[in-house]
Amino acid sequence: MPGGLVIAVDGPSGSGKSSASRGVASTLGLRYLDTGAMYRALTWWLVSQGVDTEDRAAVAAGAATPAIEVSGDPEHPWTRVDGQDVSAPIRTREISTRVSTVASVPEVRAHLIAQQRAIIAAAAPGIVAEGRDIGTVVAPGALVKVFLTAAGSARATRHASDQGTSLADTEADQDRRDRLDAAQSAMAADALLIDSTHLTLAEVIDAIAALARDRAGTLACTGDKSS
Ligand code: C5P
Repeated sequence: MPGGLVIAVDGPSGSGKSSASRGVASTLGLRYLDTGAMYRALTWWLVSQGVDTEDRAAVAAGAATPAIEVSGDPEHPWTRVDGQDVSAPIRTREISTRVSTVASVPEVRAHLIAQQRAIIAAAAPGIVAEGRDIGTVVAPGALVKVFLTAAGSARATRHASDQGTSLADTEADQDRRDRLDAAQSAMAADALLIDSTHLTLAEVIDAIAALARDRAGTLACTGDKSS
């Protein structure tokens, strides 16, 4: 199979996507790609340059300027912009409230999606890529596709404890971001829907890893015609 095993994990913020994706990658010995971190990194850079993130023309003009790098190691995730480690500042509330507008600009999506596809194509022996549109747009040919969701209140509780913000603020931010992200958050027709509301992280990781082993095993049995 050219490019190796690709596992697409999509879903809204607070669904447990990042922890689950890193856990699956570690369990199966695969690389890891956090596409949300790339949109956050670009947003952080625009803010640091004094660009108004509501100005779509200015955002489009800057989309390809900063060098954005993300770690492919699920045990040591980091994000860099022009060589500077921005892993912490891209998680602030200011960036979280601005990122969806930046991510809705077509030039931004075209540029970052091309970069994401190159990372996925180069990943050996395979990769777990997480985001909103991995199974539908970035890697529609992924062998394994999961759409991870959770009840809104469970998602807000997780995020509030991650970010140290109040539950009410987190829920309001989350509802707003869900609305703005809706255009790029469709579930792929061939994705498995996993509701993590009542599952532990280990159970979610096990479910995705089992699906991946099953799909990869089926492929080996039927003969991979592409290799
Ligand atoms: O996953 P995370 O919450 O860090 O993503 C931050 C934002 O980046 C999302 O709210 C969304 O606006 C954008 N995003 C996107 N497409 C992706 C991943 C993230 O538009 N594949």
